[in-house]
Parts: sequence; structure tokens; C-alpha cells
Amino acid sequence: MRPVQFNNKVKTADIPESYTGEGFMATKFDSVIGLARQNSIWPLPFATSCCGIEFMATAASHYDIARFGAERMSFSPRQCDLLMVMGTISKKMGPVLRQVYLQMAEPRWVLSVGACACSGGIFDTYSVLQGIDQIIPVDVYVPGCPPRPEAILDGFMKIQDLVGQEGLRRRNSEQYKALMGSYGIQ
Ligand code: SF4
Repeated sequence: MRPVQFNNKVKTADIPESYTGEGFMATKFDSVIGLARQNSIWPLPFATSCCGIEFMATAASHYDIARFGAERMSFSPRQCDLLMVMGTISKKMGPVLRQVYLQMAEPRWVLSVGACACSGGIFDTYSVLQGIDQIIPVDVYVPGCPPRPEAILDGFMKIQDLVGQEGLRRRNSEQYKALMGSYGIQ
């Protein structure tokens, strides 16, 4: 039988901070959950215009977001944990975006991709929302018009860092409730 050839370039996830010794490893429950979560993110691509095309390139074979454990796109807010907003969001679209965010279960994260989603971009006009953080909290911003796939992946990796480091009780904290309260979300 032919032996299985392992590719030395395959990189496994780093083990969380831990105490190790002869035959044992002890770590925090938070770290284990964080490790699992950060490497199995299910994104919901909310793409409205040109930045969405960059995202398609990010998901395709050359950049391959599957390498980060995030190839399972969700087009239902009920089965996702990362809302990726890519493109111009008009004021009419704002309530729809907010509704999608509200339908996501906790814990949820938001990545704002491109100048339009971050700040309205070049569309400084009466009909365009001047940044999605006016209606929902954003965790990471990716600048650019459009950002290249490398930039989107960089933003995604920053989200992974946040996810991996987040304590399990953060969502019950007073600070988090205050953040949600500032957006009128209970
Ligand atoms: S930031 Fe630029 S590329 Fe992205 S949606 Fe806006 S206009 Fe299009």
C-alpha cells in the first residue's frame, strides 16, 4: 500500500496557553472554546455591490477562505456567527441590515469591508448610510475601495483573534449590555 504523503506546509492551529507536563496539558475552557470557534466561523456575506466581487475572489480557489475554516457560507442569519458587510448600504437598506443582525444568535461578530460599509465611501449623499456602525456595532473595519482579497483576509484574521480571545462571559457583561443599549438593542 502506498504510504500517505503529508504536506509539510500544512499548519495546525496553535495550542492555547496552557500548562504542560509529562502526559498532560491543562488549559482554560475559554481557550478551548475560543480555539474551536475561531477556526470554524460561518460567515454571512451581505454583499450589495463591488466589494462583494472582491469577496467572491476571496472565497474562490486562489485566496481560498476555506483555509481558515470559513468556507461554509450562511445565507440565513440563524446559522451564522460573522456578518460580513461588503458594499454600499443605502439608508433604505439600513433597516434590512439591522434586521439581519438582530436575527443572528449570540455570539455574533461584524466585519465591515470597504470604504462604503465603513463610512459611506465616495457616496457622501443623502441616500447612503455613512457607515454601518450608525446602526449596528462593528468589530473590525477593512479600509479600501475596494479592499483586495488580502485585506479582506487580514480583517478576517483579526476577527479570528477577537473570537479566540473572547471570554465566555463577555456577552453577559455590563459593558456589552451598554454597547448593545447604545444601539437600542436589548
Ligand atoms: S468601497 Fe468602493 S469598491 Fe467597495 S462597494 Fe464602495 S465603491 Fe464599490
